[in-house]
Order: sequence, then C-alpha cells, then structure tokens
Amino acid sequence: MTTIHGSEAEQQTLDALRRLRTRLTGSLIEPGDPLYDEARKVWNGMIDLHPRAVVRAGSVADIDPVLAAVRSTGLPLAVRGGGHNIAGHGTVDGGIVLDLGGLRGVTVDARRLLVTVEPGATLADVDRATAGHGLAVPLGVISGTGVAGLTLGGGVGWLTRTDGLTLDNLVSVDLVTAEGEHVRAGEQENPELFWGLRGGGGNFGVASSFTFRARPLPSAVLGGNFFYRRPRWKEALGAFDRWSTDLPDEMNPIVSFLVLPAELGMGDEPWMVVGFAWAAEDHGTGLEYIERLRDLAPPDEEEVGPADWLEWQSAMDALFPRGSRGYWKNVSFSRLDDDVVDVLAGFASEVTWAGTGIDIHLMGGAFGRVGEDATAFPNRSARYWLNIYGFWQDAGEDGRLSAFARRAHALMQPFADRGQYLNFMGADAGIDAREAAQQTYGPDILARLTALKDHHDPHNLFRRNHNIPPTRA
Ligand SMILES: Cc1cc2nc3c(=O)[nH]c(=O)nc-3n(C[C@H](O)[C@H](O)[C@H](O)COP(=O)(O)OP(=O)(O)OC[C@H]3O[C@@H](n4cnc5c(N)ncnc54)[C@H](O)[C@@H]3O)c2cc1C
Repeated sequence: MTTIHGSEAEQQTLDALRRLRTRLTGSLIEPGDPLYDEARKVWNGMIDLHPRAVVRAGSVADIDPVLAAVRSTGLPLAVRGGGHNIAGHGTVDGGIVLDLGGLRGVTVDARRLLVTVEPGATLADVDRATAGHGLAVPLGVISGTGVAGLTLGGGVGWLTRTDGLTLDNLVSVDLVTAEGEHVRAGEQENPELFWGLRGGGGNFGVASSFTFRARPLPSAVLGGNFFYRRPRWKEALGAFDRWSTDLPDEMNPIVSFLVLPAELGMGDEPWMVVGFAWAAEDHGTGLEYIERLRDLAPPDEEEVGPADWLEWQSAMDALFPRGSRGYWKNVSFSRLDDDVVDVLAGFASEVTWAGTGIDIHLMGGAFGRVGEDATAFPNRSARYWLNIYGFWQDAGEDGRLSAFARRAHALMQPFADRGQYLNFMGADAGIDAREAAQQTYGPDILARLTALKDHHDPHNLFRRNHNIPPTRA
C-alpha cells in the first residue's frame, strides 16, 4: 500500500487542478484571482467560505472533468445553480465549486407544452421564455432563485394549488452521476431515480438539463393583497381558515407577517398580509371568492386587480437582495384553530424589524392530490406549510434573528405535522446527517432514498447538500 504524504497529496491536487483548467470550456478561479471573492459568494451573506477553486462552467461539458478532478483529489464538491440555497450548500470550504450559473438557456416547445431548462437558469429566465408563448411552469415567488435547487427540493409558489410543485411538473432530468455516467430519468427511463430526484435534492448527481410540462397562462392573473393591522390578526387568521376550507385550485393564497418596505409608506409595524393569485382567465369567479374573504374579515388596506405574470412573479424581488443574511426554518401543520392562532399571532408580533418574515402557504389542490409515494417530497397531506425566514443586512443581528426563527419553530412543534421542506432549511451545524434526513423524510421515504444513494453515489461524493447518507457512510 502506498502512503501519500501531505506534500505529495498537495502536488497531486495542484496537478489535477492544472489538468482541469485545460479541459474546461469555462474558467477556473482560485484564491488570489481578482474574481475569487465574487465567485465564492452565494445569496446568503452569512455563508463566508473559501473554496480551493470555483469552476464557472462554460457548458455542460464541464461537468465531466470537474467530477473527474473531485474523484482523483478527494476534494469536497459543491454544486451551484442559482446560489440561493439558504444553508449555503452552493459553496464549500477547501473544495471545488461547480458553478453552473452561467448556463441559463431555456427552450420552449409550445406545441408539445415542453420547456427544457439549463441548470443555471433562474425563475426569471423560465418565466420570461414561457410567458411569451402564453405558458408558465409553476415556480417560486422570487425571480432570482435557481430552478435547479428549487426543483430538486420541491418548488412552492403562486401556482402550487393549481398545478402542484415545480417537481410535479418535471418530465425528465438529464444527470451526470458520481462515476461520470450520463443518464436520463423520467417516468419511463430510470423511474426510481426520477422518483428520488423529485425531493431528494442534489444527492444523486449533477443535473445537466431539466424538462418541464408547461401550463397555459391566463392573459393576466388576478392578484392582490389584503393587509391587516396587528389587533386584527387573530380575527383575520380565523377568517382565513374558514375561507380557505373550500377554495378551488385556481386560488393560491400565502399569508405573510412582515414589516413592509419603507417605500410603501405603511409604517414600521408588522402587517399580516393575505396575498393571493387567482390563476384562471375568469376573473369574475376569482373576485367572488375574494369578496367572501372581505366579508369575513374586511382588510384595513387592500389592493386587488389584474396583474401581468412577469411583474407578479418579480414583485417581491427587492426585499431579497443577494448578500442578505438568512437563517430559515419551516414546519408543516394542519390546524388553524384558536390554540394555533394564539401561538402564531404571538411570535408574529415579534416581527417588529425589517428583515424577518413568516409565510403560511396554503397547500392542497393539485399539490395535495399527488400520491404520497409518487415523489420523494415528504408530506402531501398537511394543509399548511409555514416558513420562518430572514433577509437582514446587519451581521450584528445574526444571533438575535436566528434565535427568533429557532424559537418560533419550537413554539409550533406541538402542532407540527411530519416532514421538513428541504428548500426552507437553514444551516444547522452539529446535527447528525442521518437523524436530520430521518426528520425530513420519515423512515419509508428515507429507506427508498438511501437505496438510491447506495446505488448511484455509494461514496457520498454529493454530500454538500441536505444529505442522504449512504449505508456505508
Ligand atoms: C430569496 C429566496 C426566495 C426563495 N423563494 C422560494 C420560493 O418561493 N419557493 C420555494 O420553493 N423555494 C424558495 N426558496 C428556496 C430555494 O428553493 C432554495 O434555496 C433552492 O435551494 C435554491 O436553488 P438554487 O439553485 O438557487 O440554489 P443553489 O445554492 O445553487 O443550489 C442548491 C443545492 O441544489 C443542488 N443543486 C443545484 N444545482 C444542481 C444541479 N445542477 N444538479 C444537482 N444538484 C444541484 C445542490 O445540492 C445545491 O447545493 C427561496 C430562497 C431564497 C434565498
């Protein structure tokens, strides 16, 4: 057996990186390069890591040589699409970052309602390409988010009740595995892998292309916000619960608690905002449903009207600039009775600073009709999914505002349903990966995902993610 000494291993790494540089269609950026500090950044400004090299892929052909370099050096790998992962998994200390963010092409086959997306595309790239054809893919609510990470974890937004999660609209994924094998996964080809890619995150390989089924988009969505001042929150939450029990799929509401941006002139106290998008051509019916909520709990302020889809999809962008600091927690639950309303309204009252917020996504509709075992997404039956999130700028607030998210999450535990939503999970150091995966997926889904991991990535090359540890790890 040969022992590789420190200096010898370092020389091998240098050689491997030199070879890698010559094989790339894109660029390789190392410490000392003027672009390095920009290249190592991700959306979450709290994540301040120093990779050994950042590869900015010039084409999907760069995936193979990067994986070869990772295999030969043993350096850790981070795969980055849009860089919005809250836990900061799009970068890694001392390893190689495969940054696919420059590959943003989107091809629309309007006749077959198929949309093919390169792995660095943002939601805005897809929305812009599809809207011109009167089509949409269900995505998230902030347009700079990456399609890759969003899709592999789930993808909730303004069309979730109408058409399901982003991953429910996937037709196929082209994947490069840890050993460099190129495979396609869809309902017919590699169906088990396709199942795991829809919820298992980046655990099984590097996706080089995603194909989605698009849906027809109304010429305008009917969008709006009802605003409630703090003394009205309990009444308004109770009304929302009653209102939302028999909504049609076309109505997609999200209840938020946050301090609104100063430009809106709505003061510095937190508001409860019931946002909704009615995703159908017939606005008259949508208005009837909105009127029912107005009757149950007349808002203190409101705005309702037809909205251009691209404007609606980017309306909140300014709140979440790149480099914001964020620690997020989520919990699913199904009751919104007095006990839960008391707890929610209690900790929501503490959102007295700009830079934190709480969203309650009403699930159900098309999302809820997908079978529990049709994808690896952990819970289809919960009525609500709550996200406690941060987007503050001042590093001095890290401790206090992260603690707020943890406490609010803890207060909701007595009402919590099963599962965690991967894409709304912050970085929690020191938690055993197997235990974390168990909490996220539960035993049945995790057993199936582990079998896939054992098959496609037994040495856990793809571990810089919400990891599914292989059996031997
Ligand atoms: C401001 C903001 C708004 C958000 N809004 C929403 C929302 O409305 N709805 C919602 O559901 N989520 C939302 N999210 C969460 C978002 O879905 C996740 O953060 C997601 O991970 C972002 O994907 P990304 O490609 O930008 O991230 P990245 O950090 O680039 O990637 C995240 C992870 O995905 C994996 N990955 C990325 N690319 C690939 C690839 N090509 N192949 C294999 N694995 C890959 C890797 O494991 C990587 O670590 C939001 C996040 C932020 C910061």
